[in-house]
Amino acid sequence: MIKPTILRWGNLTPIRKVRRIIIHHPAAVRYSYLQIHNQHRNQGWSGAGYNYYLQKNHEFYELRGLNVGAHAANHNSDSLGVCVEGNYDREQMDETLFLKFVQEVKKLMNQHGLTANDVYRHSDVGQTSCPGRNFPWARFKQLIAQREEVKSIVHEPKQKEVMYVKAEDFQWSSGKEQFEAVINRHGNKNELDAYKAGKLTVSDALGVLSKGILAEPSQTVASTHKDAWEDLTKRGIFNGKNPNHPITRAQQATVIKRIEEGN
Ligand SMILES: [Zn+2]
Repeated sequence: MIKPTILRWGNLTPIRKVRRIIIHHPAAVRYSYLQIHNQHRNQGWSGAGYNYYLQKNHEFYELRGLNVGAHAANHNSDSLGVCVEGNYDREQMDETLFLKFVQEVKKLMNQHGLTANDVYRHSDVGQTSCPGRNFPWARFKQLIAQREEVKSIVHEPKQKEVMYVKAEDFQWSSGKEQFEAVINRHGNKNELDAYKAGKLTVSDALGVLSKGILAEPSQTVASTHKDAWEDLTKRGIFNGKNPNHPITRAQQATVIKRIEEGN
């Protein structure tokens, strides 16, 4: 499963046709997708340059997804940059992580009608050792060329790595002040205490955000509906509040009655 993220992006351009996959490592033993995103935004880019990222916690994240990435000079417009956490110039890849990576790359190949011949190392197209001298390339190519699914990936690591939300993570995501306003109004005591102690997990942070969105839907009226909304509010058919709330049948009855009464 591909995990969506809560990142904030600059301008992105969709890829017209995916013709290749280029494999990377970030050359860092531990590097979260948030760190990559922050680093690349600080370089002035639209955000994390890779299209997808497999972390050592076995989560496979969609970063640029099907938008043009920034991962291999002169080769970005028609390729997906797929990166696996680690520094494979120095370390060996864990077998379960390797097989998970094989599985995810095969899924992307299937989605875009690509074969193993369309999968390259960054070092095949640029001056770099990426994805690292120890990356098991021959075996990787052999496994992605296999028609059968890679089956031996059944066990996830016993201890899932827990990621905590830290203030600096918000620099290029939903905004620290905004998040704190939401957690102060809608977080429960455990969530607030955890956040203050720097121990709020990313998944709990997402939960707090969705509670906030449910409790406080946007008050902005989309431009298509603006004239109608203002007119019907003036005529007293709607009360002008909560333009994006759903309407119940009982409320619809009231609206119809007000129209029938000639408002
Ligand atoms: Zn690379």
